Amino acid sequence: KSGFISIIGRPNVGKSTFLNRVIGQKIAIMSDKPQTTRNKIQGVLTRTNSQMVFIDTPGIHKPKHKLGEFMFKVTKNTLREVDIVMLMVNAEQELGKGDEFILEMLEGNSTPVFLVVNKIDKVHPDELAKFINSFKDKYPFKEIIPISALEGNNVENLLATIESYL
Ligand code: GDP
Ligand code: MG
Repeated sequence: KSGFISIIGRPNVGKSTFLNRVIGQKIAIMSDKPQTTRNKIQGVLTRTNSQMVFIDTPGIHKPKHKLGEFMFKVTKNTLREVDIVMLMVNAEQELGKGDEFILEMLEGNSTPVFLVVNKIDKVHPDELAKFINSFKDKYPFKEIIPISALEGNNVENLLATIESYL
């Protein structure tokens, strides 16, 4: 089984930390360059029964100019072509404009979207439950998975769940 996974989310939610953990430092850092117009492979994770290709998806912010509009369209199309979209959010941060913009962008897309709630090591379980509730109605997420990319909590479960969709 193999598939393409796009990790999207506001800056600093932990996308690179996650990739570093599952793929290895070198590759994720190598490709963690600022905005480029083309989607690029950030890393490939080969497991016993699967291969997951993680791709970077630039241009997830409100377009301010023509190139921005072009990138926005490229990104929107990319999100239709991948097998899974992982929307990563920070459990410490309330739903903001950036998240709402991303959710609007996903509207009408039939690709399964996972809400990955990162940095659970920083929040109390009650807070986490509240946080998840605030997101639940915003989009028909196929899965909502809390993790700590830094400490590794529940990351294996996330990978196994991704695998089950491929
Ligand atoms: P990106 O901009 O989405 O790629 O975010 P980064 O991976 O660069 O992470 C931004 C900051 O959040 C860094 O200082 C990370 O160490 C920190 N971070 C990422 N994941 C976690 C986590 O699960 N728990 C905690 N406490 N910090 C995290
Ligand atoms: Mg990053």
